[in-house]
Amino acid sequence: MDNLLKIDKTYDIIIAGAGASGLSLTWHLLQSEKLRSKNVLIVDLNFTPLNDKTWCFWDDSNIPFENLIYHTWNNLVVNAKSKELSEDLQQYRYHCIRSVDYKKQILQQAETASNFTILEAKILGFTSEGKYGVIRTDQGNFKAPYIFQSALKPPGLSTAKSDISLSQHFLGWEIETDNNLFDPDKAIFMDFDIPQLNGLSFFYTLPFTENKALIEYTLFSSNLLTDEEYERELINYLNDKFGLTKGNYTITRREKGNIPMEDRRYPSIYCNRVFNMGTAGGLTKPTTGYTFTRIQKHTMQIVKALESGSEIPEEEASSYRFRVYDMMLLSILDGYSEISIQIFHDLFKNNHFDRILQFLEEETHLGQELKIFSTLPYTPFFKAIWKMKHRILTGA
Ligand SMILES: Cc1cc2nc3c(=O)[nH]c(=O)nc-3n(C[C@H](O)[C@H](O)[C@H](O)COP(=O)(O)OP(=O)(O)OC[C@H]3O[C@@H](n4cnc5c(N)ncnc54)[C@H](O)[C@@H]3O)c2cc1C
Repeated sequence: MDNLLKIDKTYDIIIAGAGASGLSLTWHLLQSEKLRSKNVLIVDLNFTPLNDKTWCFWDDSNIPFENLIYHTWNNLVVNAKSKELSEDLQQYRYHCIRSVDYKKQILQQAETASNFTILEAKILGFTSEGKYGVIRTDQGNFKAPYIFQSALKPPGLSTAKSDISLSQHFLGWEIETDNNLFDPDKAIFMDFDIPQLNGLSFFYTLPFTENKALIEYTLFSSNLLTDEEYERELINYLNDKFGLTKGNYTITRREKGNIPMEDRRYPSIYCNRVFNMGTAGGLTKPTTGYTFTRIQKHTMQIVKALESGSEIPEEEASSYRFRVYDMMLLSILDGYSEISIQIFHDLFKNNHFDRILQFLEEETHLGQELKIFSTLPYTPFFKAIWKMKHRILTGA
């Protein structure tokens, strides 16, 4: 059946999905002298840049898209157990990029590059034809020796072995206040000192100016809330934390999301010659939801492989050691909120914030990790190891 597909055109590379990862790959391809002659097709449902996501990440040097950084914070705050823990970062900076700026700039560059074709179409699926991947869309079928896709969930994902499947779900408002209330150099990374009504929950506050901030209500749980439920907690928080009542702030933007937090292994390929990227490629760190930096590293590796003609890297985003840590933490997060909050409290109280970010970025070595674990309560971790031993012993 697949062999009978009419192919409308053949490209060298097809990028299926133009979100964070598809555009990151586009950007790295645009920078590559060696790949300048390659014909590239980019397909997405919609190419209109929308101000619907803010991507936050930390980095110490060589950030791609440095000119796109919308705001940077040097100080992070964590509130837990009625204590405010705050630290000036030394090694890292906490940055934020708006999806609207990212999409606009990268697409503008792609539109002016003669080797790029942009196609607005609905992706219906992928198949393989010998040394080619094939993309089926409502605007035709196309093939290429390399298809990189971030649009569809890979087949087999729903049956992949999984013990814990949580979500990081959130709804936030960007607000403008009548009075100056915020310190634009200080981001509230996690504020757990709120009613824990619906599972482990916290707020974060990202101030852009003294009277503009993005404030999000975030939960790590398996049950999503209704918009009214998220918004009720937002209204309460604005009042309790900042003394704000309706009438002395304006909501200028709304952001909502649901990021998977699961121990499931994501396949690196969709089918022969079709490679998964981004969230569909398992790039999301299960315990934090952070994906943006991992996407940048992954797409950079892809371009290096294409330049050198070597195989596209198919290894998982995390090494075995970090997969085990993530499993232990996920197992704890899946349990009682109180224990998780105690762990976050002890983590940020007893370790430098830079070291914690380095650990979350999976750039620490074993000695540093053992030191971090020695500052945390042991019992929940022993229980988690016991509960997840069947996974840990069989390669996580
Ligand atoms: C609101 C929000 C905020 C986030 N904030 C952060 C953050 O601060 N830091 C961080 O590290 N991570 C963050 N994440 C997680 C992650 O970085 C993002 O989800 C990121 O966008 C994932 O990139 P992606 O390329 O995998 O998917 P996407 O960016 O979602 O791109 C997928 C693309 O595929 C297209 N597509 C889907 N289906 C089809 C189809 N059938 N046909 C054609 N096109 C299709 C979509 O239109 C989209 O453009 C956030 C996620 C959300 C939802």
